[in-house]
Amino acid sequence: MPNRPSICIVGAGLTGLVCARKLAQRGFRVQVVEQHSTPGGMLSSVRIGHEYIELLPHHIRKNDRNVLALLKELGLHEDISWHDSYWYGRAGRKKLGYPEKGFHSLISALSQEITDQGGIIYYGYTVMDIDVSEDEKRQYRVSCVLSDCTTIVLDSDVVLFTGSCRNLAHITHNLDLPTDFRDPLMDITYKANMSLLLVMKSPFTGCFSRPFGDDYPFQRIIQHTNLVGERRYGGHILYLSGSFHTSHPMWTQSDADVFKAFFKSLQKLSPSLVRSDIKTWRLTRTRYALPTSVPELPLTSPLPGLFLSSLAMVGDNVVSSEYRMDPTIALAGETVKMIEESISGRSLPGTGTVIERIY
Ligand SMILES: Cc1cc2nc3c(=O)[nH]c(=O)nc-3n(C[C@H](O)[C@H](O)[C@H](O)COP(=O)(O)OP(=O)(O)OC[C@H]3O[C@@H](n4cnc5c(N)ncnc54)[C@H](O)[C@@H]3O)c2cc1C
Repeated sequence: MPNRPSICIVGAGLTGLVCARKLAQRGFRVQVVEQHSTPGGMLSSVRIGHEYIELLPHHIRKNDRNVLALLKELGLHEDISWHDSYWYGRAGRKKLGYPEKGFHSLISALSQEITDQGGIIYYGYTVMDIDVSEDEKRQYRVSCVLSDCTTIVLDSDVVLFTGSCRNLAHITHNLDLPTDFRDPLMDITYKANMSLLLVMKSPFTGCFSRPFGDDYPFQRIIQHTNLVGERRYGGHILYLSGSFHTSHPMWTQSDADVFKAFFKSLQKLSPSLVRSDIKTWRLTRTRYALPTSVPELPLTSPLPGLFLSSLAMVGDNVVSSEYRMDPTIALAGETVKMIEESISGRSLPGTGTVIERIY
């Protein structure tokens, strides 16, 4: 196809992968760069026993229209089973959905379709700087640092950033961004999340989810196996999850110390609990988990060819205390439309090639 535009997507989380798949289908030359060694971002999984399980607790609801539509497109909707969930202190039950092979199947289907369309996903690439080339092409130059500290520069007509707004402000200091775009990016604050995944010999609680107050280091426990059954994890899965500001002393403690604090609180609830009841554990820290302020204006980048699709833009100026994939996927769909519309017959990113509508 002549004049196929190239796009560099920063982040292989759900947003980056959903956008990359759609744009690869529409004829873009797609490169995705991800700082971690695996895809998924907050929806990353790990293998426990003979199953994949999310590092952070994930389930879907019947009204998650966008998630369900995506699963259907990928041929995965029939893999979802719906279970009754019992919430501590609440009458009634909520139906929650969970895929047969965990959300790992969603992330791996997205990654597979991207590469099947000729897209490339680079892992272990941390984007440190986005600039524009000096030559007549005026392409974006995305500088990535690899784990051995070497730098690789990827050129592209379009850049889509899917990480935190603050990070975008940091890595674009060489671009000519007006302050009324840059300042709101820096003003957005986020809570961090720490989630401890425990594989236990027996279930800790009879319910699925239970909230906790300020005298506990976590805000919620989720007994995942009470929802989906024991499967082949080789134990009962319990998540302890808490969101807080990074000024909280626990954020800088070692994983072992956080585990000790969480375990001590579990013992308060169940004094007969001993260390050997826990077969294995894994702590996951997510720095930019939950935006605590949202931008007052739409965060549309003023530079042609530079796009942002970020958690903080979800929610119509209402800060949500909930983590949801559904609005993230809706925003990814809107972003793809915006990218297609804006490049149609326009010069990118400054005075370079004119790209025709590509379908
Ligand atoms: C504790 C927790 C529980 C949740 N539970 C649920 C649930 O039950 N149901 C539900 O629907 N949703 C849930 N969610 C929400 C869901 O996980 C998110 O909506 C979704 O994963 C967001 O995807 P994203 O791609 O926008 O962001 P992310 O997953 O954060 O992806 C961004 C990616 O960009 C990469 N990146 C950032 N900066 C750079 C850089 N400079 N260079 C290279 N790579 C970079 C990051 O490494 C990351 O992989 C939960 C979230 C949390 C934190």
